[in-house]
Amino acid sequence: MSGTNLDHEAAASESFDSIRAALFHPMGVPGVYARTAQYEDVLQRLSALITRLRDPRAEVLRFPPVMSRAQVEKSGYLGSFPNLLGCVCALHGTEAQILQAASLHEQGGRWTDALEASDLVLSPAACYPAYPIAASRGPVPAGGLLFDVSADCFRHEPSRALDRLQSFRMREYVRIGSPQDVLSFREQWMTRAATLSAELGLPGELDVASDPFFGRVGQVMAVSQRQQSLKFELLIPYAKGVKPTACMSFNYHQDHFGAVWGLHDASGVAAHSGCVAFGMDRLTVAMFCVHGLQPRLWPDSVRRALQM
Ligand code: ATP
Ligand code: ZN
Ligand code: MG
Repeated sequence: MSGTNLDHEAAASESFDSIRAALFHPMGVPGVYARTAQYEDVLQRLSALITRLRDPRAEVLRFPPVMSRAQVEKSGYLGSFPNLLGCVCALHGTEAQILQAASLHEQGGRWTDALEASDLVLSPAACYPAYPIAASRGPVPAGGLLFDVSADCFRHEPSRALDRLQSFRMREYVRIGSPQDVLSFREQWMTRAATLSAELGLPGELDVASDPFFGRVGQVMAVSQRQQSLKFELLIPYAKGVKPTACMSFNYHQDHFGAVWGLHDASGVAAHSGCVAFGMDRLTVAMFCVHGLQPRLWPDSVRRALQM
């Protein structure tokens, strides 16, 4: 058995190698790549397909790759994933202090020791900035809210594998409202995701999942999250027999963000929220792994779905 698995792993890593060579240019740090026009074309077509499935009531917000450090802290990110967060640091102080720090580099010293945190972090997920924006508008209207958001995300998880990047694109639909609003939104998207992956010729399977909470306490949080079925993932094997990769996730936050941001309905009941996240780079890599490096040779049905 393990021999077979190893063969499959070897096949996957070979297909990663050919994809890396054809579609990415290394930028000197693991998990960070320049992408070619061909790769971007497929990613943009996947984006357009996701847009075609959008509820017309969704409000579109496009976020920059950075967000408020205070907002991420308040969201509880450090309690769950402190290992993944990247903070924007800069040289602060007087002209003399900044010049002195910068000159350390020329002298072979560590200029980075002089860095201090700024009030920005690199966005670890696309939906975090949506909740405070929603909260700033007052009570959540009857029927709730729906957003279409995206961001370039950063997570400090360097890897050589093409399905675990440090900088990657995330698109999300975010639902805020009653528990029923959020759960039926999530249910609907899980059904749609199965259709979507079939249309794309991707062998996807839905399964209950947990977030990669940090540390030993994190493992307890993960068990509880699974028991309550708060997270599902669409898992796609990039090659036959290899461990599948989570390309989408379906998350129910209960009233976590409602409580953090004071999101509530007109009668003061805390709002619930959920999000459906599309790992745009993971989906794009999956397309090339499963269908090959030449989109013009992809199955007709797949090309039609992508309007190629
Ligand atoms: P994993 O368990 O694989 O690390 P996750 O649970 O951390 O995934 P989410 O937080 O649900 O992932 O993020 C939403 C989606 O973003 C994932 O389903 C995946 O498609 C994508 N994603 C997450 N981490 C990465 C990464 N390091 N590189 C590329 N895509 C990623
Ligand atoms: Zn989200
Ligand atoms: Mg992760």
